[in-house]
Amino acid sequence: MDANCDKMKDQIADLISGILPETQIHTLQQHLGKCSACRDYANQLQKEDKLLAGLFAHFDAGMTGRQEEVIKAIDRIDVSGKTNVVSLSRTIMRGFFAKHAAAVAVIIIVAVYFIITLSWISEINECIRLSLSMIG
Ligand SMILES: [Zn+2]
Repeated sequence: MDANCDKMKDQIADLISGILPETQIHTLQQHLGKCSACRDYANQLQKEDKLLAGLFAHFDAGMTGRQEEVIKAIDRIDVSGKTNVVSLSRTIMRGFFAKHAAAVAVIIIVAVYFIITLSWISEINECIRLSLSMIG
């Protein structure tokens, strides 16, 4: 460890994010060559970065899949009816963007519902724990 390490750690993060200017890469490499603390930090950060990238890729794939399912469900809705409401929604659903907006809205509603449900569950758990600790 030396006085440069804090600065170098910032540069390691930039390097992994791919935003470190090329002029600074050489200096950083030299420092990594002689400083094991920064080398460890770089390895650790790179591992975390890969983990995060994997997580986000998984999440994105899930979101895209769900969005497509919702769009398909919207496509399946019978719009051949004669009422004004149906013909109006048919007009709205016609645009690709409108379909996407509707899909995103449905996903957000479902996500919010799950978040609310989950927070209830954790509150209920907390209540049970409290009651149990009072009895015990
Ligand atoms: Zn260092």
